[in-house]
Amino acid sequence: AVPRKMDANIVVMGTESVGKSAITVRLLTRRFIGEYGDIESIYSHSLGRELTLNIWDSPYSEDLSVETSLFEKKVQWADGYVLVYSICDRASFNSVSRLIETIKSTKDYVGADKGPIAIVGNKRDLHHRRTVLSEEGRLLARNTDCHFYEVSAAEDYHSVRTVFHGLVDRMKDAKLTS
Ligand code: GDP
Repeated sequence: AVPRKMDANIVVMGTESVGKSAITVRLLTRRFIGEYGDIESIYSHSLGRELTLNIWDSPYSEDLSVETSLFEKKVQWADGYVLVYSICDRASFNSVSRLIETIKSTKDYVGADKGPIAIVGNKRDLHHRRTVLSEEGRLLARNTDCHFYEVSAAEDYHSVRTVFHGLVDRMKDAKLTS
């Protein structure tokens, strides 16, 4: 089938300092700049001629009070999710697992097929400080019907690109079959 022109909304979530902004900026500019403010932003990015990605990079403080309508708004808005943790930060990994539960229990969540979730272990370059094994991420993904990646926003543009392209492919499949 010929892909139709479409917009895809992706929300990037995870605790503070795991690299949400680094991943987003890396995808958009191919560059790693090291320090990022905490401005909340929605970015638009063209992927080829037929697709516009809208990426909402949002601070975790908003997601802590997961009852808030803002969290629900994100779930309503999103076609796909990038949930980021750092492989050096066990607490951030635990938060991803809570975020998955919360997303899935939000009333507007459309299900794993139509609202794909990527679990992303960032900072793979800091392997000497690793505290979360790849296998743990993989297992979490398998148990929750999500997709698992490890990336380095600092050193590997292609790893970051693969996450977003994977999500987009799944969203296209969902839209074309709906
Ligand atoms: P956010 O709060 O989740 O948006 O995190 P940031 O994108 O602001 O990144 C937090 C810190 O981690 C910054 O100092 C980044 O330079 C650093 N950082 C982000 N990604 C990586 C990575 O892949 N490797 C390393 N070594 N540092 C990273």
